[in-house]
Amino acid sequence: MSHAVAPNAFVEITPSAEVEVDRHGWRAKCLQRLVRMGLAVPRSFAVPSSAVRALAAGQTIGDGAFSRVLSEGQGLVGVRPSAPDPEWGGPKSVLNVGINDAKHKALIDTRGQAAADAIYLGFVQTYAVHVARLDPDMFSDSGPGALERALRAYRAETDEDFPQDPVRQLTEVMRSMARAWEGTTARLLRQAKGAPADAALGLVIQDMALALGPGITGSGTIQFVDSETGAPAITGRFRGQMQGSTMGEGAETLYLMRDPRGPALEEVAPEAFADLIRFGALARQRLREEMQLEFVISDGELSIIDATRVARSSRAGVRIAVSMAQDGIIPQDEAVMRVEPRALSDLLHYQVDSRKPRDIIARGVNASPGAATGRIVFTAAEAQSAQARGEACVLVRRETVPEDIRGMHASVAVLTERGGMTSHAAVIARGLGLPCIVGAGGIRIDLREGRLSVGGRVFRTGDVITIDGTRGEVLAGEAAMLQPALDDSFNTLLKWADENRDIGVRANADTPADARTARNFAAQGIGLCRTEHMFFDEARLSVMREMIFADRSEDRRSALDRLLPMQRMDFAELFSIMAGLPVCIRLFDPPLHEFLPSDREGARALAETLDLPLSDVVRRIDALSEFNPMLGMRGVRLGITMPEIYDMQARAIFEATVAVATMGATVVPEIMIPLVSARREVELVKTRIDAVAAAVRNETRADFAYRLGVMVETPRAALRAGDIAEHSAFLSFGTNDLTQMTYGLSRDDAGRFMNTYVGQGVYSEDPFHILDQEGVGELLQIGCQRARAHQPGITISVCGEHGGNPESIAFCRAAGVDYVSCSPFRVPVARLTAAQLAI
Ligand code: PEP
Ligand code: MG
Repeated sequence: MSHAVAPNAFVEITPSAEVEVDRHGWRAKCLQRLVRMGLAVPRSFAVPSSAVRALAAGQTIGDGAFSRVLSEGQGLVGVRPSAPDPEWGGPKSVLNVGINDAKHKALIDTRGQAAADAIYLGFVQTYAVHVARLDPDMFSDSGPGALERALRAYRAETDEDFPQDPVRQLTEVMRSMARAWEGTTARLLRQAKGAPADAALGLVIQDMALALGPGITGSGTIQFVDSETGAPAITGRFRGQMQGSTMGEGAETLYLMRDPRGPALEEVAPEAFADLIRFGALARQRLREEMQLEFVISDGELSIIDATRVARSSRAGVRIAVSMAQDGIIPQDEAVMRVEPRALSDLLHYQVDSRKPRDIIARGVNASPGAATGRIVFTAAEAQSAQARGEACVLVRRETVPEDIRGMHASVAVLTERGGMTSHAAVIARGLGLPCIVGAGGIRIDLREGRLSVGGRVFRTGDVITIDGTRGEVLAGEAAMLQPALDDSFNTLLKWADENRDIGVRANADTPADARTARNFAAQGIGLCRTEHMFFDEARLSVMREMIFADRSEDRRSALDRLLPMQRMDFAELFSIMAGLPVCIRLFDPPLHEFLPSDREGARALAETLDLPLSDVVRRIDALSEFNPMLGMRGVRLGITMPEIYDMQARAIFEATVAVATMGATVVPEIMIPLVSARREVELVKTRIDAVAAAVRNETRADFAYRLGVMVETPRAALRAGDIAEHSAFLSFGTNDLTQMTYGLSRDDAGRFMNTYVGQGVYSEDPFHILDQEGVGELLQIGCQRARAHQPGITISVCGEHGGNPESIAFCRAAGVDYVSCSPFRVPVARLTAAQLAI
């Protein structure tokens, strides 16, 4: 027999033993801490991963290693997995290893026949199924005579008696656990939780504290906070005459604390209960974590056999971290570090209760988190009527276009067949805080019939569905929901986060409602106000269309004159809500045809409104349509070709500044030019805006300052950031367009193949979701360096959707940006992320 493992490889877990997480695993280390605290932990041994590996490879371990392990007490042990990280899972524990005919006989004397039989039977069943891999059906019975039947079945199936040698039993149990760890499913599951490919398993061998037998005997778990809310609460259960899944005679479940519904551990075993409470408090203090204790009471005597970190929802995670810091157990910085930023978005929205079953009908890109239930509508008009009736509705579209905005406002959630992370529906929904799924593969929408078909099921207008935008799952019917939780703990954690942060966080906000949300989440200003969204209001749309149809500059100006007071009001309202915080307004960006009707019916209605022949309207629409509108006449190109639009916007901004200033608030508006690719563009726009500022100063006899900046959204703007910076007070990277243009990848269409591309490893992630550091990121770095080299004091920011993504924020901070700007609902995530990067 080859002895590949040294006989002294098993380390007894004593206060001073050398037990290491890397070699022996997390559970072994945790048990050592419990031992050091003086808790009543049964004698335990740590088995290093090297020995576990050797066993998996078919090698054996010298008997010497086992003799100490099996020499004491009843000679029965339990084996538990001990991975380096508790999140990585591991095979099921095996209890009562070492039992055989002789020990069974001895147990009858000490624990009684029923308990002895149950212990032996439990082990035979486990061994037969998990070690010898026999058919579980043959070992599932538990009535009288079950032990004999199980032993007979084992003999019949294997042609040998049930192994009586404890060393062989223990070796085989450990080997089967070692092999289970190497299995494909186990490996994939732990890799999904971040385990490296070569993650190794350690084991813990522990003397059994028997939970079957005379007196008050059983096993249980106890924790001291509620897993869902994190509030202090003693929860768990004690099961008398129960060991793992082995149930003894007279098994019953007891409440932990006094309860009118039945007997409680606190009453039947007050001393053990008091010890549990004491141990819980001690473990929290010394392990600096909320722990769940696993315990056994054996004829009144308490043993702590294991402790694990309490499972917790996102909301409980925040509350636990904050209360540990408030109790002085961990520093505030550490509380900030302990909460996963992404988890905060779960707290801001309704969530589908993950404990309840769900009827999933389709999956797509989880474009905006949260969940909502409503009746299906297929058009923006239906959504508005539903809202007018007070009915919650889900807007289902192939994709959304700017005209759908009002429909989105009227809906509780949005589902689109097409699109990706930065498609119109996704961006707007995130801004509105609406749950949204885009690119839902497999759904088919039949608008005429008012029908959504998916996987053989059909849903019609008015049918109820639930959108789980956090997971990207469409569910049939109504789902049980958890409430948002912006409680004191949440606010305290973010306050601590802000004390550490070294970059700013602003919000992308287009409407007063967005701005209020931004303030509620303590955004430090508006980093991007997309003004085009202000023109989709019914009244404005028709003036806008008139403007677009005007052939001459004067006619254009007269339509714009009517838009001016509306815009002035928009900006004044934003300035007032933001009360002195910076507001960065992006001048008009989209191609004009987005404001024109997309079908013949719409064109006819427009002809009527404008009192023009339909043919003129159709001709004009045709003339404005472009083969490649995202690369066409939009952004600053429109601003230079039809300068009256920017003139009007600049005037509205300055007049609003003056108006709000007279009411006492200081406003230094920021104006941002979109889609720039050349320095001359900035010069031309700057000249005109300066002129408008001078005119408004003159007319109002009021002085004000403003800052003019440039969006870096084209690769050329990033490369030429040095000379573009010369005329700019700030640069803001629009990483949505920058990603689109760097990859040559349409942000509105990429959703169709993004899953395939990510699945096949062409892209490691959707680059519209997580900034592509190698390509787009390099342009961003180059842009920052060149801009700063020319103008060291220039402010640099990121306002694309990546501004709310934790990995991307880390990259942008390292590249030297001063602040990020993201959808209001992502502001808390960005604040926490930024703090963690600075700690
Ligand atoms: C961008 O392109 O990153 C950006 C912020 O502008 P928009 O999404 O409006 O094109
Ligand atoms: Mg853009």
